[in-house]
Amino acid sequence: MPLQQSMFLDFLRPDQLLLNEPMMNHTTFRIGGPADLLALPESGEEIEAALSVCKRIEVAHLVIGNGSNLLFSDKGFRGVVIKISKGMSKMEVHEDEIVSQPGALLSATAAKALEEGLCGLEFASGIPGTLGGGVFMNAGAYGGELKDAFACAKVILPDGTLRIFLPQDMEFSYRKSAVQHNGGVLTEITLKLKPGDFREIKGKMDDFNSRRREKQPLELPSAGSTFKRPEGYFAGKLIMDSGLRGFSVGGAQISEKHCGFVVNKSGATCEDVLKLIEHVQTAVMKNFGVMLEPEVKIIPEKCACRG
Ligand SMILES: Cc1cc2nc3c(=O)[nH]c(=O)nc-3n(C[C@H](O)[C@H](O)[C@H](O)COP(=O)(O)OP(=O)(O)OC[C@H]3O[C@@H](n4cnc5c(N)ncnc54)[C@H](O)[C@@H]3O)c2cc1C
Repeated sequence: MPLQQSMFLDFLRPDQLLLNEPMMNHTTFRIGGPADLLALPESGEEIEAALSVCKRIEVAHLVIGNGSNLLFSDKGFRGVVIKISKGMSKMEVHEDEIVSQPGALLSATAAKALEEGLCGLEFASGIPGTLGGGVFMNAGAYGGELKDAFACAKVILPDGTLRIFLPQDMEFSYRKSAVQHNGGVLTEITLKLKPGDFREIKGKMDDFNSRRREKQPLELPSAGSTFKRPEGYFAGKLIMDSGLRGFSVGGAQISEKHCGFVVNKSGATCEDVLKLIEHVQTAVMKNFGVMLEPEVKIIPEKCACRG
């Protein structure tokens, strides 16, 4: 039976359910065909309800945040994409802790920390994802990672139970966390920060952000660093040293400004990006014997459950 809005209307309003919604409108890469249904929950209960309907009617689902680390297929996604973003971005500050819904942008969370004179989130102020996506990915930059500020989170597990995850449950490592393999959905996150000096915190954020603007191709759509950092190397340098600066396939290009980024120069398709990734992997393997592993999550049109 085709997916219908009505299957979710006991829990979500019609304006929270978009049929055949192009995923290029929900990713920073600006790539991706239509998802059968895009759901925009505004509370943990609504996420839980959307997940349980998907389970009951046996359709695939995928939870996304700001879509800043995703590459959707040109054919889109067969199933329900549950986008946790603006509608779930409330934050509260209790002394040195920020308790936040997962859809809050990392930039907004870092700005809140600054406003409250709390340090420890400066590194995250220029990462264009949500807090949920950031914790899921253990996003990091300039020597900091989300794991350093993580205190606890509410997580809905695939069997529908709600659990509190503490740092020791999260199995954080480089761009990895336990929710990547246990199928959990983060519905609330608590960060523990430290009291700091407003001017020092702001100075660090300004410095990191100007370094970002100087080095990264922020003027073009991308999903950030395309490849994970291989141990002992930098992906961008290996790609540059393979002579691939500016190399393109269709509308996808190795950024002229930073070889670690594949950018959507003009109307790139998912196929263009995948061919470019494969070309880069082959060249770097041939030249340096290093296998580059994508950091960007490639979402097939049909997937078993979630990315
Ligand atoms: C210009 C640019 C610069 C970037 N710089 C950095 C950087 O410096 N450091 C860095 O680490 N990354 C960087 N990134 C990549 C990206 O911003 C991060 O990976 C970010 O954490 C992804 O967050 P998101 O909300 O966009 O998640 P999405 O891309 O929407 O999703 C990423 C993954 O998280 C999962 N997910 C999202 N929300 C939840 C939730 N509530 N519960 C469970 N799972 C969830 C999704 O299923 C998906 O598998 C950059 C990207 C861009 C475009």
